[in-house]
Amino acid sequence: MNIEISENSKKEEKIENLENQGEKDKNNGEEEQKNEEKDNQNENSTFEKISSVPIMMKCFLCQDYCNESVQTICCNKLFCKRHIIEEILKNFKCPSCHQRCELKDIIENKKISEDIKWYKKQLNELILGEM
Ligand SMILES: [Zn+2]
Ligand SMILES: [Zn+2]
Repeated sequence: MNIEISENSKKEEKIENLENQGEKDKNNGEEEQKNEEKDNQNENSTFEKISSVPIMMKCFLCQDYCNESVQTICCNKLFCKRHIIEEILKNFKCPSCHQRCELKDIIENKKISEDIKWYKKQLNELILGEM
């Protein structure tokens, strides 16, 4: 009976989706529920994206966007250049995997630095756009 109800409420949509009608009829009730869930999730994750730093752009030490992204060759973790250099000069090991690490064991990752710049710009535009 769920199917009947949702079929009625979906009549208009169906006219646009004539091609897939056969398949849709079978799963109509289920699909509608799933779509609603998805919508909610999307809203949440957009919000999270604005408020949290993506793991691919995060400094392992300060948990903020990397400022001049650098990676350790031992475990490929990301750091701000300044933060990992401070750490190595203090302990001579990787703060993530604790292997021995020297200044020669870190590599700058310009690609990620560029990505962060781009991402922050997009975020700013998104936030400004919503205001
Ligand atoms: Zn940092
Ligand atoms: Zn490491």
